[in-house]
Amino acid sequence: MRILHFDNLSKFPQIKHFVGTRHDKSNLSDYVTVKQVHGDNVLVVKSSSVGEVKADAMITNQRGIGLVIRVADCVPIMFYDPTKNAIGIAHAGWRGTLKKIVAKTVAKMRDEFETNPEDLVIGIGPSICVKHYEVDEAVLFGAKGHFDLRAANKIQLEKLGVKNIEIMPYCTYERTDLFYSYRREGKKGMITTGILITG
Ligand SMILES: [Zn+2]
Repeated sequence: MRILHFDNLSKFPQIKHFVGTRHDKSNLSDYVTVKQVHGDNVLVVKSSSVGEVKADAMITNQRGIGLVIRVADCVPIMFYDPTKNAIGIAHAGWRGTLKKIVAKTVAKMRDEFETNPEDLVIGIGPSICVKHYEVDEAVLFGAKGHFDLRAANKIQLEKLGVKNIEIMPYCTYERTDLFYSYRREGKKGMITTGILITG
């Protein structure tokens, strides 16, 4: 298996999207990347030459400009507004989740494209699972414990009125045959995930 797709996003022929595995060798020359810093900056992409911007999410309504996020244990999240034909992508580890990167991405889509959160179609990609993701006291407000990245981001989206959310069930820590795991392997590599408006 080289590439995975979400069922909900696959229903729209006007976009392409993918979740690459570690066996994926796709050519990404049409895709924009950013310097991911575990922050909460959402970049509005208006052309394919964005330079070296620090951001952890991107949005656009431009055709032919794909948005790429790379991850190893952190969760990649894709956004599509079929009403306004606009897309977004975000990367959330525990830092980005606490900084509400997905809520800020939805807010930016609202500001820029008048996106109604109820229209959004969301794909939450593979990440480290709650069992394998232990974080320290600072994250969980008092007790060392386990953090559920995918559930925490899903809840943030649901609070905004988003209804169409699909979660890929894979754990990156368990499935290093398919994905990279920073917790398990260190800085070995990252999988590439992307979304693009084609029509
Ligand atoms: Zn796991």
